[in-house]
Amino acid sequence: MKYAENILETIGNTPLVKLNKVLGDDFPALVLAKVETFNPGNSVKDRMALKMIEDAEKDGRLKPGGTIIEGTSGNTGMGLALAAIVKGYKCIFVTNSKQSKEKNDILKAVGAEVIVCPTDVTPEDPRSYYSVSKRLGEETENGWYVNQYDNLSNRVAHYETTAPEIWEQTEGKLTHFVAGAGTGGTVTGCGQFFKEKNPDIKIIGIDTYGSILKEYHETGEFHPEKAHSYVTEGIGEDIIPLNYDMSVIDHFEKVTDKDGAVFARKLAKEEGIFCGYSAGSAIAALLQMKDQFTKDDVVVVLLHDHGSRYVGKIYNDEWMKGMGWL
Ligand code: PMP
Repeated sequence: MKYAENILETIGNTPLVKLNKVLGDDFPALVLAKVETFNPGNSVKDRMALKMIEDAEKDGRLKPGGTIIEGTSGNTGMGLALAAIVKGYKCIFVTNSKQSKEKNDILKAVGAEVIVCPTDVTPEDPRSYYSVSKRLGEETENGWYVNQYDNLSNRVAHYETTAPEIWEQTEGKLTHFVAGAGTGGTVTGCGQFFKEKNPDIKIIGIDTYGSILKEYHETGEFHPEKAHSYVTEGIGEDIIPLNYDMSVIDHFEKVTDKDGAVFARKLAKEEGIFCGYSAGSAIAALLQMKDQFTKDDVVVVLLHDHGSRYVGKIYNDEWMKGMGWL
Protein backbone atom coordinates (compact mmCIF):
# COMPACT_ATOMS: atom_id res chain seq x y z
CA MET A 1 0.00 0.00 0.00
CA LYS A 2 1.20 3.48 -0.77
CA TYR A 3 -0.06 6.24 1.49
CA ALA A 4 1.10 9.27 3.43
CA GLU A 5 1.26 8.99 7.22
CA ASN A 6 -0.51 12.34 7.48
CA ILE A 7 -1.35 15.35 5.29
CA LEU A 8 1.99 17.07 6.02
CA GLU A 9 3.85 14.36 4.16
CA THR A 10 2.11 15.49 0.98
CA ILE A 11 3.73 18.93 1.07
CA GLY A 12 6.16 19.56 -1.79
CA ASN A 13 7.10 17.59 -4.91
CA THR A 14 4.79 19.79 -6.97
CA PRO A 15 4.77 19.47 -10.77
CA LEU A 16 6.61 21.58 -13.32
CA VAL A 17 4.31 22.32 -16.26
CA LYS A 18 5.21 23.83 -19.65
CA LEU A 19 3.30 26.98 -20.59
CA ASN A 20 2.00 26.59 -24.12
CA LYS A 21 -0.31 29.48 -24.98
CA VAL A 22 -0.51 32.29 -22.45
CA LEU A 23 2.82 33.85 -23.49
CA GLY A 24 1.95 33.77 -27.21
CA ASP A 25 3.45 31.77 -30.09
CA ASP A 26 6.55 33.88 -30.44
CA PHE A 27 7.82 33.82 -26.87
CA PRO A 28 11.49 32.93 -27.32
CA ALA A 29 12.23 30.70 -24.30
CA LEU A 30 10.94 27.46 -22.81
CA VAL A 31 8.86 28.52 -19.79
CA LEU A 32 8.03 25.99 -17.08
CA ALA A 33 5.59 26.75 -14.27
CA LYS A 34 6.22 25.33 -10.79
CA VAL A 35 2.58 24.90 -9.81
CA GLU A 36 2.47 25.23 -6.02
CA THR A 37 -1.31 24.85 -5.80
CA PHE A 38 -0.68 21.09 -5.57
CA ASN A 39 0.32 21.51 -1.92
CA PRO A 40 -2.40 20.45 0.57
CA GLY A 41 -3.13 24.04 1.60
CA ASN A 42 -3.13 25.06 -2.08
CA SER A 43 -0.07 27.26 -1.83
CA VAL A 44 3.72 27.29 -1.61
CA LYS A 45 3.35 28.59 1.95
CA ASP A 46 2.74 25.09 3.33
CA ARG A 47 6.46 24.51 2.92
CA MET A 48 7.62 27.43 5.03
CA ALA A 49 4.83 27.08 7.59
CA LEU A 50 5.94 23.52 8.36
CA LYS A 51 9.63 24.51 8.45
CA MET A 52 8.99 27.45 10.80
CA ILE A 53 7.07 25.16 13.16
CA GLU A 54 9.67 22.37 13.05
CA ASP A 55 12.52 24.79 13.78
CA ALA A 56 10.60 26.40 16.64
CA GLU A 57 9.90 22.96 18.10
CA LYS A 58 13.60 22.07 17.93
CA ASP A 59 14.83 25.09 19.84
CA GLY A 60 11.94 25.24 22.29
CA ARG A 61 10.20 28.43 21.09
CA LEU A 62 7.13 26.27 20.46
CA LYS A 63 6.24 23.84 23.24
CA PRO A 64 3.82 20.87 23.30
CA GLY A 65 0.22 22.05 23.27
CA GLY A 66 1.33 25.62 22.52
CA THR A 67 -0.52 28.34 20.63
CA ILE A 68 0.73 29.58 17.27
CA ILE A 69 0.09 33.30 16.68
CA GLU A 70 0.57 35.07 13.37
CA GLY A 71 -0.63 38.10 11.49
CA THR A 72 -2.00 36.48 8.33
CA SER A 73 -5.20 36.26 6.40
CA GLY A 74 -4.10 33.86 3.86
CA ASN A 75 -1.76 31.22 2.65
CA THR A 76 0.65 31.20 5.59
CA GLY A 77 -2.30 30.82 7.96
CA MET A 78 -3.56 27.83 6.01
CA GLY A 79 -0.16 26.16 6.10
CA LEU A 80 0.26 26.82 9.82
CA ALA A 81 -3.25 25.57 10.55
CA LEU A 82 -2.71 22.26 8.75
CA ALA A 83 0.54 21.62 10.57
CA ALA A 84 -1.05 22.66 13.89
CA ILE A 85 -3.85 20.13 13.46
CA VAL A 86 -1.49 17.25 12.84
CA LYS A 87 0.92 18.31 15.59
CA GLY A 88 -1.63 19.32 18.24
CA TYR A 89 -1.26 23.10 18.50
CA LYS A 90 -3.84 25.90 18.64
CA CYS A 91 -3.75 28.77 16.14
CA ILE A 92 -4.74 32.42 16.55
CA PHE A 93 -4.55 34.51 13.38
CA VAL A 94 -4.84 38.26 13.33
CA THR A 95 -6.18 39.76 10.11
CA ASN A 96 -7.61 43.11 9.08
CA SER A 97 -11.04 44.28 8.04
CA LYS A 98 -9.92 44.72 4.39
CA GLN A 99 -9.74 40.94 3.98
CA SER A 100 -12.73 39.12 2.55
CA LYS A 101 -14.98 37.14 4.89
CA GLU A 102 -14.29 34.00 2.84
CA LYS A 103 -10.61 34.15 3.74
CA ASN A 104 -11.36 34.27 7.44
CA ASP A 105 -13.97 31.52 7.09
CA ILE A 106 -11.42 29.26 5.41
CA LEU A 107 -9.04 29.65 8.35
CA LYS A 108 -11.85 29.00 10.82
CA ALA A 109 -12.78 25.87 8.84
CA VAL A 110 -9.37 24.42 9.68
CA GLY A 111 -9.77 25.19 13.35
CA ALA A 112 -8.07 28.57 13.76
CA GLU A 113 -9.33 31.45 15.87
CA VAL A 114 -9.42 34.62 13.74
CA ILE A 115 -9.21 38.14 15.19
CA VAL A 116 -10.12 40.98 12.83
CA CYS A 117 -8.44 44.39 13.35
CA PRO A 118 -9.27 47.75 11.74
CA THR A 119 -7.25 48.74 8.63
CA ASP A 120 -7.60 52.50 8.99
CA VAL A 121 -5.00 52.81 11.77
CA THR A 122 -1.20 53.20 11.66
CA PRO A 123 1.00 50.14 12.35
CA GLU A 124 2.02 51.69 15.73
CA ASP A 125 -1.62 52.01 16.86
CA PRO A 126 -2.37 49.41 19.58
CA ARG A 127 -5.46 48.31 17.60
CA SER A 128 -3.45 47.58 14.43
CA TYR A 129 -2.94 44.12 13.08
CA TYR A 130 0.82 44.35 13.75
CA SER A 131 0.40 45.53 17.36
CA VAL A 132 -2.29 43.01 18.22
CA SER A 133 -0.40 39.99 16.86
CA LYS A 134 2.78 41.05 18.66
CA ARG A 135 0.94 41.66 21.93
CA LEU A 136 -0.87 38.31 21.72
CA GLY A 137 2.49 36.62 21.14
CA GLU A 138 3.79 38.14 24.38
CA GLU A 139 0.66 37.71 26.50
CA THR A 140 -0.66 34.30 25.46
CA GLU A 141 0.44 31.56 27.78
CA ASN A 142 2.58 29.05 25.92
CA GLY A 143 2.18 31.23 22.83
CA TRP A 144 4.64 31.64 19.96
CA TYR A 145 4.59 34.59 17.54
CA VAL A 146 5.72 33.24 14.16
CA ASN A 147 6.65 36.47 12.31
CA GLN A 148 7.06 35.11 8.78
CA TYR A 149 8.76 38.34 7.67
CA ASP A 150 11.82 38.05 9.88
CA ASN A 151 11.74 34.31 10.66
CA LEU A 152 14.58 32.92 8.53
CA SER A 153 13.15 29.39 8.55
CA ASN A 154 10.90 30.84 5.85
CA ARG A 155 13.66 31.21 3.27
CA VAL A 156 15.43 28.05 4.45
CA ALA A 157 12.31 26.03 3.53
CA HIS A 158 12.73 27.15 -0.07
CA TYR A 159 16.48 26.55 -0.03
CA GLU A 160 15.89 23.02 1.24
CA THR A 161 12.83 21.95 -0.74
CA THR A 162 11.47 24.23 -3.49
CA ALA A 163 14.77 24.97 -5.20
CA PRO A 164 16.26 21.44 -5.05
CA GLU A 165 13.03 20.09 -6.60
CA ILE A 166 13.30 22.57 -9.48
CA TRP A 167 17.00 21.78 -9.91
CA GLU A 168 16.23 18.09 -10.23
CA GLN A 169 13.16 18.60 -12.44
CA THR A 170 15.15 20.76 -14.89
CA GLU A 171 18.29 18.61 -14.59
CA GLY A 172 20.12 21.78 -13.62
CA LYS A 173 19.31 23.42 -16.96
CA LEU A 174 17.31 26.41 -15.77
CA THR A 175 18.68 29.81 -16.79
CA HIS A 176 16.13 32.06 -15.05
CA PHE A 177 14.01 31.80 -11.91
CA VAL A 178 11.02 34.12 -11.60
CA ALA A 179 8.85 34.46 -8.48
CA GLY A 180 6.58 36.97 -6.78
CA ALA A 181 8.23 38.71 -3.83
CA GLY A 182 6.56 39.51 -0.53
CA THR A 183 8.34 38.36 2.62
CA GLY A 184 11.20 37.46 0.28
CA GLY A 185 11.34 33.84 1.44
CA THR A 186 10.67 32.26 -1.94
CA VAL A 187 12.89 34.42 -4.13
CA THR A 188 15.77 34.51 -1.62
CA GLY A 189 15.76 30.85 -0.52
CA CYS A 190 15.56 29.62 -4.12
CA GLY A 191 17.97 32.34 -5.26
CA GLN A 192 20.61 31.30 -2.72
CA PHE A 193 20.38 27.66 -3.80
CA PHE A 194 20.53 28.38 -7.53
CA LYS A 195 23.39 30.90 -7.26
CA GLU A 196 25.46 28.33 -5.34
CA LYS A 197 24.82 25.76 -8.06
CA ASN A 198 25.39 28.17 -10.95
CA PRO A 199 25.95 31.91 -10.45
CA ASP A 200 24.83 32.60 -14.05
CA ILE A 201 21.21 31.70 -13.26
CA LYS A 202 19.24 34.94 -13.20
CA ILE A 203 16.95 35.49 -10.22
CA ILE A 204 13.98 37.77 -10.87
CA GLY A 205 11.58 39.00 -8.19
CA ILE A 206 8.12 40.28 -9.12
CA ASP A 207 7.08 43.49 -7.42
CA THR A 208 4.09 45.79 -7.75
CA TYR A 209 3.48 49.54 -7.96
CA GLY A 210 3.09 50.97 -4.47
CA SER A 211 5.77 48.66 -3.04
CA ILE A 212 9.32 49.76 -2.19
CA LEU A 213 11.19 46.51 -2.96
CA LYS A 214 12.49 47.41 -6.44
CA GLU A 215 13.68 50.87 -5.41
CA TYR A 216 15.44 49.47 -2.35
CA HIS A 217 17.17 46.80 -4.46
CA GLU A 218 18.38 49.33 -7.01
CA THR A 219 19.36 52.23 -4.74
CA GLY A 220 19.90 50.68 -1.31
CA GLU A 221 17.76 53.49 0.08
CA PHE A 222 14.80 52.73 2.32
CA HIS A 223 11.88 55.09 1.79
CA PRO A 224 8.78 53.59 3.44
CA GLU A 225 6.98 56.91 2.97
CA LYS A 226 6.96 56.27 -0.79
CA ALA A 227 4.81 53.15 -0.37
CA HIS A 228 1.14 53.44 -1.28
CA SER A 229 -1.77 51.02 -1.28
CA TYR A 230 -2.39 48.65 -4.17
CA VAL A 231 -4.83 45.93 -5.14
CA THR A 232 -2.47 43.06 -6.02
CA GLU A 233 -2.29 40.46 -3.23
CA GLY A 234 0.70 38.58 -1.85
CA ILE A 235 3.54 40.60 -3.37
CA GLY A 236 5.21 43.92 -2.61
CA GLU A 237 6.10 45.39 0.80
CA ASP A 238 6.40 48.67 2.67
CA ILE A 239 9.17 47.17 4.82
CA ILE A 240 12.29 45.14 4.02
CA PRO A 241 11.81 41.81 5.82
CA LEU A 242 14.92 40.06 7.18
CA ASN A 243 14.25 37.15 4.82
CA TYR A 244 15.71 39.18 1.93
CA ASP A 245 19.24 38.65 0.73
CA MET A 246 19.18 41.26 -2.02
CA SER A 247 22.57 40.08 -3.33
CA VAL A 248 21.08 36.91 -4.85
CA ILE A 249 18.34 38.83 -6.69
CA ASP A 250 19.39 40.19 -10.09
CA HIS A 251 16.31 42.21 -10.92
CA PHE A 252 12.86 43.24 -9.70
CA GLU A 253 10.15 43.69 -12.32
CA LYS A 254 7.09 45.74 -11.41
CA VAL A 255 3.64 44.82 -12.72
CA THR A 256 0.45 46.88 -12.51
CA ASP A 257 -2.63 45.75 -10.57
CA LYS A 258 -4.53 45.52 -13.84
CA ASP A 259 -1.98 43.38 -15.70
CA GLY A 260 -1.68 40.93 -12.78
CA ALA A 261 -5.45 40.42 -12.79
CA VAL A 262 -5.76 40.16 -16.58
CA PHE A 263 -2.95 37.63 -16.89
CA ALA A 264 -4.18 35.47 -14.02
CA ARG A 265 -7.46 35.18 -15.95
CA LYS A 266 -5.61 34.36 -19.19
CA LEU A 267 -3.52 31.71 -17.40
CA ALA A 268 -6.71 30.02 -16.20
CA LYS A 269 -8.51 30.21 -19.56
CA GLU A 270 -5.61 29.42 -21.87
CA GLU A 271 -3.59 26.87 -19.87
CA GLY A 272 -6.16 25.45 -17.45
CA ILE A 273 -3.90 26.53 -14.59
CA PHE A 274 -6.15 28.21 -12.02
CA CYS A 275 -3.92 30.36 -9.83
CA GLY A 276 -3.92 33.52 -7.76
CA TYR A 277 -3.23 37.17 -8.39
CA SER A 278 0.56 37.04 -8.02
CA ALA A 279 0.75 34.24 -10.59
CA GLY A 280 -0.84 36.63 -13.09
CA SER A 281 1.72 39.28 -12.14
CA ALA A 282 4.53 36.81 -12.84
CA ILE A 283 3.14 35.96 -16.29
CA ALA A 284 2.69 39.66 -17.12
CA ALA A 285 6.30 40.27 -16.02
CA LEU A 286 7.61 37.58 -18.39
CA LEU A 287 5.90 39.33 -21.29
CA GLN A 288 7.27 42.72 -20.22
CA MET A 289 10.76 41.17 -20.24
CA LYS A 290 10.27 39.15 -23.44
CA ASP A 291 13.17 40.80 -25.33
CA GLN A 292 15.64 39.68 -22.69
CA PHE A 293 15.08 35.97 -23.29
CA THR A 294 16.53 33.74 -26.03
CA LYS A 295 15.52 30.40 -27.52
CA ASP A 296 18.09 28.55 -25.41
CA ASP A 297 16.73 29.83 -22.11
CA VAL A 298 14.87 27.63 -19.64
CA VAL A 299 12.75 29.90 -17.46
CA VAL A 300 11.07 28.58 -14.31
CA VAL A 301 8.20 30.70 -13.01
CA LEU A 302 6.74 29.84 -9.61
CA LEU A 303 2.96 30.12 -9.19
CA HIS A 304 2.28 30.73 -5.51
CA ASP A 305 -1.39 29.97 -4.83
CA HIS A 306 -4.77 28.81 -6.08
CA GLY A 307 -7.41 30.82 -7.93
CA SER A 308 -10.27 29.74 -5.64
CA ARG A 309 -9.23 32.39 -3.12
CA TYR A 310 -9.89 35.10 -5.71
CA VAL A 311 -13.30 34.17 -7.12
CA GLY A 312 -14.83 37.27 -5.52
CA LYS A 313 -12.24 39.52 -7.13
CA ILE A 314 -10.16 38.93 -10.25
CA TYR A 315 -12.28 35.97 -11.39
CA ASN A 316 -15.49 37.96 -10.90
CA ASP A 317 -16.52 39.89 -14.04
CA GLU A 318 -18.50 42.49 -12.06
CA TRP A 319 -15.50 43.21 -9.86
CA MET A 320 -13.26 43.50 -12.92
CA LYS A 321 -15.76 45.89 -14.57
CA GLY A 322 -15.90 47.94 -11.39
CA MET A 323 -12.14 48.32 -11.57
CA GLY A 324 -12.44 49.32 -15.23
CA TRP A 325 -10.34 46.34 -16.31
CA LEU A 326 -12.87 44.41 -18.39
N1 PMP B 1 2.12 35.31 -3.86
C1 PMP B 1 1.24 35.02 -2.91
C2 PMP B 1 -0.17 34.73 -3.29
C3 PMP B 1 1.62 35.03 -1.56
O1 PMP B 1 0.72 34.73 -0.60
C4 PMP B 1 2.95 35.37 -1.23
C5 PMP B 1 3.35 35.45 0.20
N2 PMP B 1 3.21 36.75 0.74
C6 PMP B 1 3.85 35.67 -2.27
C7 PMP B 1 3.40 35.62 -3.57
C8 PMP B 1 5.27 36.09 -2.00
O2 PMP B 1 6.05 35.06 -1.45
P1 PMP B 1 7.15 35.36 -0.37
O3 PMP B 1 6.45 35.85 0.86
O4 PMP B 1 7.87 34.07 -0.17
O5 PMP B 1 8.06 36.43 -0.91
